[in-house]
Amino acid sequence: MYPSRFRYEAPHSLDEAISILRDGGDYAKVLAGGQSLVPLMKLRFASPELIVDINNVPGLDYHRADADGTLRIGALCRHADLERSALLKGTQPTMTAAAPLIADPIVRNRGTLVGSLCHADPQGDWASVVMALGGSVVARGPGGRRAIALRDFVTGPFQNVLEPDEIAVEAVIPAAKGVRSGGYLKLERRVGDFATVGVAVAIETSDGKVTNAGIALTGVGGSTIGADEAASALVGQPLTAETIAQAADLAAGAARPRTDHRGSAEYKRHMVRTFVVRLLTPRDDAGAAHGAADGEADGIAERAA
Ligand SMILES: Cc1cc2nc3c(=O)[nH]c(=O)nc-3n(C[C@H](O)[C@H](O)[C@H](O)COP(=O)(O)OP(=O)(O)OC[C@H]3O[C@@H](n4cnc5c(N)ncnc54)[C@H](O)[C@@H]3O)c2cc1C
Repeated sequence: MYPSRFRYEAPHSLDEAISILRDGGDYAKVLAGGQSLVPLMKLRFASPELIVDINNVPGLDYHRADADGTLRIGALCRHADLERSALLKGTQPTMTAAAPLIADPIVRNRGTLVGSLCHADPQGDWASVVMALGGSVVARGPGGRRAIALRDFVTGPFQNVLEPDEIAVEAVIPAAKGVRSGGYLKLERRVGDFATVGVAVAIETSDGKVTNAGIALTGVGGSTIGADEAASALVGQPLTAETIAQAADLAAGAARPRTDHRGSAEYKRHMVRTFVVRLLTPRDDAGAAHGAADGEADGIAERAA
C-alpha cells in the first residue's frame, strides 16, 4: 500500500525543525531512520499530515563519552554505528550484546537507537537495554532542553511523553561507578525477528558485591518492563547461585506475557527466568558458566540459538 498524502519538510537545523513542528499540522511526525514509521505509514496504521525529516540536521549522528564516562547517543546514531563501535566494546556489555540482535543489517544501517526509544514498541530491544542501564532521553522543544528518565519517557505501547513540538536529541547512559557487566539475550523465531522474549541485565560490582543493578524485559508486557524488585534484590549481595535464582524468580514474576503464536505465557515467563540466570552467572574466559546455576544456564544456549 501507499501512505496517505503528507507534507514533507527536511530542515537543516534543530531550531528550524522545532519551529516547523510547532507551526505544523495537527498530526506531525519526526522521521529519523524511518524503519518503523515508514512501514506503519505504508500500512496506514499511521497517517501523519506532516513529516519532519531530521536527517539533514548536522551534529546528531554521534555517540561519545564525556570525561566522567557518561555516554551520549545522538538522534541520528544508527544501530550499525553502535554495533561496530570501538567505544562501546569493553565498556558497555549490555549495549554491545544487543546491537547485533536488532533486526537485520539493512534495518541496522538506517534505524536509530533514539528512534527506537521514541517508537516505544514493547518488543523494541533498545528500550530494555537503556532502562536496565538507568538511561534517559534528552528532548528539545521551543522551551529548551529537558532530560526524561527512560522509565518515565515510555508511557505505554507506542507512547512517549514528548510534546508534539519536541524532538528527542540524544539518549544518555550514566557512567558506571563500579565494574560494569551484563548482557542482552533475545529469543527470536528466526534471525532478524522481533523478540519473543528479551532480557537486559546491567550490573556494577565492587569488592565482590553488586553495587548497582538494572534488569529490564522486552516483549513480555504492554511496554518495556523494569524488573526493579529483581534488580534491588541483588544490590549489596555477591553473585551466588542463591542470589541469582532469587533475582531470576522475581524477574519472571514481573513479566506480564500473553500466550500468542510466539509461545505460551508460561514458556515466556520461563525464558525470562532462564535468561536472567544465564546473564548473571559468572563465566570464565572460555565462556563456561560457574556455580549451581550452570546446568540451566547452558541448557538455554541451545534453545535460544
Ligand atoms: C524488518 C524490521 C525488523 C525490525 N526488527 C527489530 C528488532 O528486532 N528489534 C528492534 O528493537 N527493532 C526492530 N525494528 C525497528 C527498528 O529498530 C527501527 O529502526 C526503530 O524502531 C525506530 O528507529 P528509526 O530511527 O527507524 O525511527 P523512525 O521509524 O524514523 O521513527 C519511529 C517513531 O519514532 C519517532 N521518532 C524517531 N526519532 C525521533 C526523534 N529524534 N524525536 C522524536 N520522535 C522521533 C517517529 O516520529 C516515529 O513515531 C525492525 C524494523 C523492521 C523494518
